Formats: sequence, C-alpha cells, structure tokens
Amino acid sequence: MASTSNATPSPTYTCGRCRQPLTVRLTAAGAGALAAQLAAQSIGESQYDLLASQITSYAPNGENVQDESIASILQSSAKPLIPRKTVLGPPTNVQQGSALQRHFDTLSSQSEADHPLCTECSKAWFAHMSDVVEEQKRTRELLVEYEKDVKARKAELDERNEWLEEDTARLEKEEKALVEQLLQMEQQKEALDAEMRELDEEEKALEAEETEFWQAHSSYLAEHNVQVEKSRSLLLSYTSALNTLEKLQKTNVYADAFNIGHDGGLATINGLRFGRLPAVQVEWGEINAAWGCTLLLLKTIARKLSYDIVGYQLVPMGSFSKIEKLGGPGEKPSTLELYGSGDWALGRLLQNRRFDSAMVAFLECLRQVIEFAEDRAHEEGFDLRIPHQVHKDKIGEVSIRLGSSDETWTRALRHVLLDLKILLADAVR
Ligand SMILES: [Zn+2]
Repeated sequence: MASTSNATPSPTYTCGRCRQPLTVRLTAAGAGALAAQLAAQSIGESQYDLLASQITSYAPNGENVQDESIASILQSSAKPLIPRKTVLGPPTNVQQGSALQRHFDTLSSQSEADHPLCTECSKAWFAHMSDVVEEQKRTRELLVEYEKDVKARKAELDERNEWLEEDTARLEKEEKALVEQLLQMEQQKEALDAEMRELDEEEKALEAEETEFWQAHSSYLAEHNVQVEKSRSLLLSYTSALNTLEKLQKTNVYADAFNIGHDGGLATINGLRFGRLPAVQVEWGEINAAWGCTLLLLKTIARKLSYDIVGYQLVPMGSFSKIEKLGGPGEKPSTLELYGSGDWALGRLLQNRRFDSAMVAFLECLRQVIEFAEDRAHEEGFDLRIPHQVHKDKIGEVSIRLGSSDETWTRALRHVLLDLKILLADAVR
C-alpha cells in the first residue's frame, strides 16, 4: 500500500450508486500513468479496462485509496502505453480531472453501473458480478452438457441415418426387383391376352359351326318327321286295307256258310226254304233243317260278339235242333224242341204249343243278341239299325206262333232271317 502522504489531491466525485461524495486520490505513479496516457492522446479499450480495474477504490477521506495499483498495472502492461524512457512533467489538477472523467464515462458506457463507485458499492458490484460470473459458469456447464447431449443425439441420428440409408438402398433394390417382376408379369399378361383373343375367335368359329349344325339338324328332324308321318299314314292305310280285306274275307266265309236269300216269297238259308205258303207247300224236314241252320247262325253270331245268352243254351242239331231253357231259382231246366212234326192234322195243338215255346224262346235269345249288338255298335260309334225289333212272341209286330196263318208265320220267319243277316254283317265288321 502506498502511503497517502505521497498522493496528489484530485477533484471531488459522487458515487454512481449510493451518491455519496468521494474523493479520488492518485499516487505519484498513478498520476504519472495518467499523464502518459494523456500525452499519448489515444488509448485502446483494453487499456481503459485495465485502468478501470485499477481505479477500484475510492474514499471520501482518502484513507483507503488504492491508486498505487493503477501505476503498477500500467507498468506491468505487456505493451506499455508510453516508452519507459519518456520523461513527462507532472500533470496539473485540471488535466487529471478531465482525464479521469473521460475514464469514468468510458467505464460507465461499457458496464451496467455508473462510475466512479465508492468502496462499499464496488464490493457490492463485485459480489454481484461474481454471482453473474458463477451463474454464467453454470450456464456454460449446462451448455456444455447440452452440447454433449446434442452431439450424442447427433451421433445417434447419424447412426440412424446410416441405417436408414442402408434400408433405403435395400428397399430400392427390392423395388427394382419388383419392377422387373412386374414387367415380366405384364409381358406374361400380354401373352395370355393374345392367347385369350385367339381362344375367343376359336370359340366364335365353333359357335357358328354349332349353330350351322343345329340348323341342319332341325331341318333334318323336320324332314324326318314328315317322313315318319308319311310312313305312319301309309301304315295306317295298309292296316286299314288289311282289316278291310280280313273283314271281307270273313264276311265272305260267313256269307258262304250262311247263305240267306229268298225263293218264291219264302226266305231261304243255305237253299233251305224257311216257312210255307198256301201256294208253296214245304216239307217239315226242310223247314226243320232251315231252323237248324238259323239256330246255328244265331249261336255263331253270339259267339262272334262274345256274348253269353242269359237263361238259354242253343243246341243246333240240324233238323232236330233244340233250346235248353236253364232253370232259374226254384225252376226246373227244360228242353224246347225247335222242329215241327210231320203230321199237320193230328196232334197239331200239342205239337204247336211245344214248337211255339221253342220259337218264342228263340226270339228271346235273338232279342238279347240284338240288344247287345246295338249297345256295342253305339259304344263304338257305328250306326246299327235292326229292321225288326223283337217283343215277346212278335218280331216286327208279327207273331211267330203257328196259331194264326202260314203267311203270318212265314213273314215272321222272313223277319228273323233279315235281322240275322244284318247282325251277321255287324258281327264281322
Ligand atoms: Zn457508493
């Protein structure tokens, strides 16, 4: 510490913080440095800083003045403000005050505090600045940590980027392969499309061919049907002609077997005269034979019609034919002789009665056959007209009994043969 006795009195200032008056005392060395500085007329900011750092303590009473440090700093500066050999005269008070004021102005403009400061305020200011420095140190450490963290993250990101680049390269390679595959598949698709088009054309051709075939087939079928119809028609005609032929043949056979005609007002069967007239006397033998033929004809017609006569059985036996009457419930069967006796005069009554019964029975049988034949023809759509209907002993309103006259009886017999002729024609149709 320099002694205050060597200090040169300086102008009075006010503390920039607490506003108490203070006196700046410069040591001889400080005053010298200041003078040198004034002489140099120029000074860098660093020198101002150095100078300001040395003018740190001021005291109003001048006891704690540390102005000697200013001189030591100015002297220890790496680059002296003025050459050491330079000899300057001591500055005046006015000059010192002016120089100091400029220093303080410069310091004030470059810091947050107004200079000059008293010792207390300087301490407080230093404490504050120390805190700021500590705070900045901590901030710096935090920033360093943060930088480390950022670097680590950057490394991680770089690694990830590298991995992503590798992945991207791999994916690009895969994409390339897939694109090639796609191109190949497109080529295959084009080939398949072409094949498909060919097949379509082939199918169309086949369809046209099929249509043509079916048209030909249809026309063939139509023609075939026409031919079949023709064939059927011919077959029907042939069958019909055959049936007609057969019928004609049969008709002829039956017509030959039962030749019905007439002779001199008498009906004949197979040339046998059937009945008698006053002018034409016919023997019983011929009449009985004619009856035999007639009975046989009725039986033949019934058999041809497949009809079983109810209650009677016909027994044609030439001139001695007869009809068996089958007994009903509580009735005895009996035989009816269908032939006449040779003796007309004697026993005519008895004979006639038996003969009459046989002839009436014959008419009953004939009635059954006529009825059956008419029903059959009606069912089959044929028009069968029997000229003489039978009712009990009458045929065509004429009795067949011998009782009345030969003409009546003979007329009844004519009716019988005519009905039989019509029935025969119907039976063989
Ligand atoms: Zn102060």
